[in-house]
Amino acid sequence: MPTCFKCGTDAIDGEIAVWCKGTWKFFQRLTQVLEGQVEPRHIYCSGCWLVCSINDLDRKRKHPESVTNNQLTPPARHGSGCGNSRGHPDSSNCTARNGACSAAAVRNLLNVQTLSNFATDDCKDSEFELVWEYLDSDRGANAANRNQNWQPMTKAMNDLLEKRWADGWDQSPDSDDTFYVRGTGFDYCIDSRCMLQKNMSTGRIRQIRRVAARADATRKAAEVKQLMQEKEDLIATVAKMKQLFQEKEDLSAKVAKLEQEKKALEASQAGHATQMMAQEAWRVSRQLRAKICIQLNHRDAVFASIQKALLEAWPSHHIGDCLRMNRFSVIGLQQVCNTSIWKDYEYRKEQVRKELEGRHSIPRVTSTLPREVCSWADLDEKINEVLVIHGTTLDKTEQIAAFGFDERLAREKGLYGQGVYFTDQSCKALQYSGASKGKGSGKDPGEGYFIIARVILGHSMEAEGPLQKTKVEPPVDPGDPSKGRFHSVIAQKGVPIDALRRQIHREFVIFNGAHAYPEMIVHFKFS
Ligand SMILES: [Zn+2]
Ligand SMILES: [Zn+2]
Ligand SMILES: [Zn+2]
Repeated sequence: MPTCFKCGTDAIDGEIAVWCKGTWKFFQRLTQVLEGQVEPRHIYCSGCWLVCSINDLDRKRKHPESVTNNQLTPPARHGSGCGNSRGHPDSSNCTARNGACSAAAVRNLLNVQTLSNFATDDCKDSEFELVWEYLDSDRGANAANRNQNWQPMTKAMNDLLEKRWADGWDQSPDSDDTFYVRGTGFDYCIDSRCMLQKNMSTGRIRQIRRVAARADATRKAAEVKQLMQEKEDLIATVAKMKQLFQEKEDLSAKVAKLEQEKKALEASQAGHATQMMAQEAWRVSRQLRAKICIQLNHRDAVFASIQKALLEAWPSHHIGDCLRMNRFSVIGLQQVCNTSIWKDYEYRKEQVRKELEGRHSIPRVTSTLPREVCSWADLDEKINEVLVIHGTTLDKTEQIAAFGFDERLAREKGLYGQGVYFTDQSCKALQYSGASKGKGSGKDPGEGYFIIARVILGHSMEAEGPLQKTKVEPPVDPGDPSKGRFHSVIAQKGVPIDALRRQIHREFVIFNGAHAYPEMIVHFKFS
């Protein structure tokens, strides 16, 4: 048990000053290592050490005078957060002078905790290393816990202060005794004279000290602290990134929604414009008794819907030449307004309506082509009015738009008679579209034309085989002419063509051109 050489007090619970290797060292406790090496007369309690220092005891400290001045006469400019601005000692009351000092009493009187805040560099040759610590008063400020409340600084902070120490730790009263360091996440103002640090963000002031500590334990504690800090920083970064990512997602969702609204608006505007144009075209067509074709804009909603509908009208299991639909791309659209063809067509509609009145159980025929391709067409289901495709070439397209479909121009060798052929399967229409192979070379331009037509199928006959000689609609009952004639012929998939072949696509044949009205001319190419 070390005792103070001067006053004989047990120095166990206070700071112990030891004269060792020509300098004073300061410890919380005298360790066994030092115990054997130090003479008892070189052990002082802090109170006696301080009194001795007033009596010009030789202390080889870096700034012996400043320490003395600092502890006993704090400079007036020190602020209220500084330990030296309080408890200014009245030396006449110092119990230490009577040789009856108590380490705790002197410490309280002089507020000399800072005495032990310097450890000298001589300690480096021992198993101790010099580290910087701060007093964590949050963890219970009572004396019993004081040793535990000194916490190691982070390694970064420790290195900064150690470097400053190496450069010269100026404690003279006249010096600028404060400087700033950047620790982990915070800036600190360091008061080198009073051994205080002030957190510039929170304003909290804490005591600091430089002490000898067991090397590995301290390093570990500092490393752990550093790692904890890094972990917290990382967690904060991850949280921030998550938030940014979420914000980005929200933003792109908003952008997508706006784009959609913009598109819908454009389409509705274009749709409206087309409608107005169509009305005007019909009016002019009536006046001039001539056809008018409205060129539809690429942005028009009809454009995209027709491209989509024509692709859907290609049964996906159709291979061979039908695969050309893979490269099908609409490049032009015209809406046909032709009053003279329309009048004939309307007249035929009326006729077929009347003829069907006397017939019962007329089979319903529907086209697979979606209604959207001609949304304005008010189809009459009772007379099997459907939207279908007629594949053809440019010159015939112009004739049809001007004069309508003409059964007299039909090929004589048509498999189901000499009529006008339609289909609801786009891959079939390709065969007649002029872009027969879709190569885009030589005589084959790689472009072609479809006419989307509304057709009155009326009472339709299902072909059971080829009808090559047929020139007009077949009779409903060959034995009874009074029962009238069919209005069209349907060749369904699977109808035997000859001993070996069967019909692959569905085709519709009319024998009167007035049974069809060309609604739309589709110009396409193979991409
Ligand atoms: Zn003493
Ligand atoms: Zn101060
Ligand atoms: Zn096909």
